[in-house]
Amino acid sequence: MINMCYNFENVKKAYEDQLKNYIKNSLIPNLSSHANNEVVKISMKKLANLGFGYLVDSTLSSITGYYKVRDWIEELLKEELQKSGENKCCNIVLCDYPEEFEISMREIPYYVNKVVKFNGVIISASYPCVLSKKHLYICPKCGRIKEVYFSELFWDDKVFCEFCGGKMEFANVMDYENFQELVVQDLSDESEYYGIEKNPIVWYCGAKPYYFGHVKITGIVREVPRSSKSRIYELIVQAINVEKLGVEKSLINLTEEDVKNIKKVAKRGDIIDILADILIPPLLCDDAIVRKAILIQQIAPYLEDIGKINILLVTEVGIDKTAILKRIGNIPGNNFINIAALKEEELATPYDKRSNILGKFYTVCGGVIPRTLGVLCIDDFNENNKLSTKLSEAFERNVLTTNKGSFYCVPAECSFLCACYPKTKFRKFDQKKSIIKQIGISSILLKNFDLIFPIRDIPDKDRDEEVAKYIFLKYINSDNEEIEGYDYVFVDVGGEKIKIDFEFLKKYVVYSRQITPKITDEVIEKISNWYDEMRKNHYITAKQLNTVIKLSIAVARAKLKECVDEDDVKEAIDIIMHYLKQVVYNPKKGIIDVILLYKNKT
Ligand SMILES: [Zn+2]
Repeated sequence: MINMCYNFENVKKAYEDQLKNYIKNSLIPNLSSHANNEVVKISMKKLANLGFGYLVDSTLSSITGYYKVRDWIEELLKEELQKSGENKCCNIVLCDYPEEFEISMREIPYYVNKVVKFNGVIISASYPCVLSKKHLYICPKCGRIKEVYFSELFWDDKVFCEFCGGKMEFANVMDYENFQELVVQDLSDESEYYGIEKNPIVWYCGAKPYYFGHVKITGIVREVPRSSKSRIYELIVQAINVEKLGVEKSLINLTEEDVKNIKKVAKRGDIIDILADILIPPLLCDDAIVRKAILIQQIAPYLEDIGKINILLVTEVGIDKTAILKRIGNIPGNNFINIAALKEEELATPYDKRSNILGKFYTVCGGVIPRTLGVLCIDDFNENNKLSTKLSEAFERNVLTTNKGSFYCVPAECSFLCACYPKTKFRKFDQKKSIIKQIGISSILLKNFDLIFPIRDIPDKDRDEEVAKYIFLKYINSDNEEIEGYDYVFVDVGGEKIKIDFEFLKKYVVYSRQITPKITDEVIEKISNWYDEMRKNHYITAKQLNTVIKLSIAVARAKLKECVDEDDVKEAIDIIMHYLKQVVYNPKKGIIDVILLYKNKT
């Protein structure tokens, strides 16, 4: 390892002129002319190519090395700017290293002092602090001075004078750095329980703090001793960049060919129905509107500023709700859980308290909710009232708070697809009674769903034969081969045949989540007209109005449209009416009445 502490003055002498030239001729001409406090990204690839490989290596060798080089470049940049009459501050970020490794969190131990990139979710964050970075030491014997970086923080050995060997004394703090500590959890990890040791700690020195959400971290893996005398080292990631991720950027890579095919099939008017049939085979649920609603939910798991679409399925015992939910749990960013047997800490909970390096205690939380970025599929939703009630906050907000020991906050950016059987004797609907009374979920929770669909198991000779045929085909296909018409279809787009299977569906969902269709005044008027008309004879509330807006945007998004149009609104209204007519219809008055939702007690 290069010993930066003792050679840095020599390094400066050797590289200064060259570096000044680079700053003057390449860096400054590319700065925007007015911005103060601008973040200036220095490409380490470029520096390495220009012959500054030694400096690049120094930034990798230690945290001290990184900041020495960074601060020096910042200093030179400031000088050069002043020469040209500009008096502004720039924040230098060293990035774009010649070697950067895309890894999963588990691989972090193999990349010490290397640049890594990984995705995760912030499960805990310290408040932003200011940290003393550069310290001035003086030798009492010969009077020489020396700059020391992060001396206390990283438990450096005592500082000795390079000339006379005397023990130097701390004199002053020369510079400070914004600082934040984050604990990040792996998203792709499939195991049920997450131990604290798997969650890397990220030290981030940046202007803008992060508190929760899904992020892509670029940073250098560092070994840091636990204390001045300890020989036990902890691995932390010194973050160079923290990028907030939306659900669309997570977990799946699309090739150019994928995007081309997605755009082609999106032109078909029936694309939502085709995809819905792949998401949920009609064999599992023969209600086409329900299949469509669930597909649309996948495409709009969380609409910024507008909210989530949450769906409850109440299925009779002949419907394999678990198979439906598990299948949907395979969409990128989604998860599947059965709430009946779930422990609270698996859902969302603090499981440890730890101190950050600043000595303050804060809570680390875990569980499936912070890990889910798309749709959380919850089976047997009415089998655990304590947990499901706890969830109700997360239905509307993107955080979940609780008060166990101390107040804490868990990110909950997902939407919810829940399923349960009716709480009746044979898990069959009683046609004479209101469906709501048979669900067995309190009104507090029920009113938080945008859509509630009963799915009946009505014997149907043709369908039953189809199911039997499919099971038989699967049985003879021992190596799990996919069956055309069931597991995939070919669609015709302008004479070209494109295969649509579950893999294609995943890609389509991920791609379409990036589309943000605009909603025009005409469309808003159309929706409010519907609302006014409905309110004349029936009783619905702003919640249903909001659902129609969310669904309209999601339908347009599913068709990769730039703007929401009247057709999308019509489809959205069809979906919500399918719910209202079945679930909150008051036969005595002959009207739709959402008050029924509020009258339910369990
Ligand atoms: Zn000395």
